[in-house]
Amino acid sequence: MQQVDIVIAGAGPAGSVASLLFARAGQRVLLLDQISPTAAKLGDTLAPQGAGLLQRLGLGPLLQPPHQPIRGQISLWDGRGELSTDFFASIHGPAWRLDRPRFDHDLRLAAAAAGAIVVEGHLDALHRDATGWRLSSAGRAYRCRRLIDATGRSAWIARRLGARIQRDDDQVGLYGIWRPASPIGTDRTLVERCPDGSWWYGARLPDGRAIAGLHLSAPAAAQLRRLPAGWSQALASTRLIQRHLGRSARPALLPAHSASGSVTHPCDGEGWQAIGDAAMAFDPISGFGLQAAIQDSSWLAEGVDDQERHRRRQAVRAAYQRSMLETKT
Ligand SMILES: Cc1cc2nc3c(=O)[nH]c(=O)nc-3n(C[C@H](O)[C@H](O)[C@H](O)COP(=O)(O)OP(=O)(O)OC[C@H]3O[C@@H](n4cnc5c(N)ncnc54)[C@H](O)[C@@H]3O)c2cc1C
Repeated sequence: MQQVDIVIAGAGPAGSVASLLFARAGQRVLLLDQISPTAAKLGDTLAPQGAGLLQRLGLGPLLQPPHQPIRGQISLWDGRGELSTDFFASIHGPAWRLDRPRFDHDLRLAAAAAGAIVVEGHLDALHRDATGWRLSSAGRAYRCRRLIDATGRSAWIARRLGARIQRDDDQVGLYGIWRPASPIGTDRTLVERCPDGSWWYGARLPDGRAIAGLHLSAPAAAQLRRLPAGWSQALASTRLIQRHLGRSARPALLPAHSASGSVTHPCDGEGWQAIGDAAMAFDPISGFGLQAAIQDSSWLAEGVDDQERHRRRQAVRAAYQRSMLETKT
């Protein structure tokens, strides 16, 4: 049985950054993940504040090709016309359209270079006794004093410890990818609100393909998925997205995923804490998730106590809700 100080389950941005920072602080850290790049991790934009955070942590050099700097966003919603926002005045510089599998891979390498032990495997079982945690993954056993849940929206550990996930709504994201007939002329993130209340996100991926995502209620998504060309027809009814990305008759459709904001209750307890999406997740269109995950993990590794982290998270969530209210009304 391998003994370490901390086991971190989940090597997304939250888990890898936390592993790196704890390892830098001299802790014996084991970072565990099934490490299967999921197709849903495509087209993520790291907001300027998130990029600034990476710089502060000494991870700025990760932001280079294939990741691409993004100058801003164009949005279109009823009554207000097209609105273009620019990051040129941001003290953190541009946003970045990430090649997510590459970004996650490089963060894991950075954690390993700092001394974390990175192991491939799904955390299968956990048990707590008087001396700490006993865990098993891929037939191997581990012991640790402290356990960190960085398993993303699944909040795998928190849920096994009795936590419940409170979702803001039942929004679902249906994403499609295709190679457009002609090169996409804008690097900006595109956001469009449709008259029926659904939302589209669109962008050019670093490899030149187009990605677009329709966000709508779960029943409406189920209905649309029953129509063979439903998604393509919905895309054809957009204005902004279609103008920049064109139409697509045969997109590769990604599995549907939850696109609601959520909070995990509780997100910490004796000997364990949840970070990143496992503690609090955001609507993907908000572009908050990555920076919040990196920020949350750095607060934990810097020793900010649970109560203060709850307070800071609430402030982040309030800012997110304000920005969503401004955008969606
Ligand atoms: C379609 C989509 C688009 C998005 N776009 C943006 C965007 O443009 N900008 C933005 O800022 N955010 C965006 N987000 C949100 C962003 O992706 C998340 O906020 C971010 O990935 C959270 O990081 P994390 O490390 O907490 O979790 P994740 O990145 O989800 O990582 C969790 C990891 O845990 C692993 N895991 C799960 N269970 C186990 C287990 N039992 N044992 C071991 N490992 C396990 C998984 O394999 C995964 O690697 C988007 C999300 C989606 C779904």
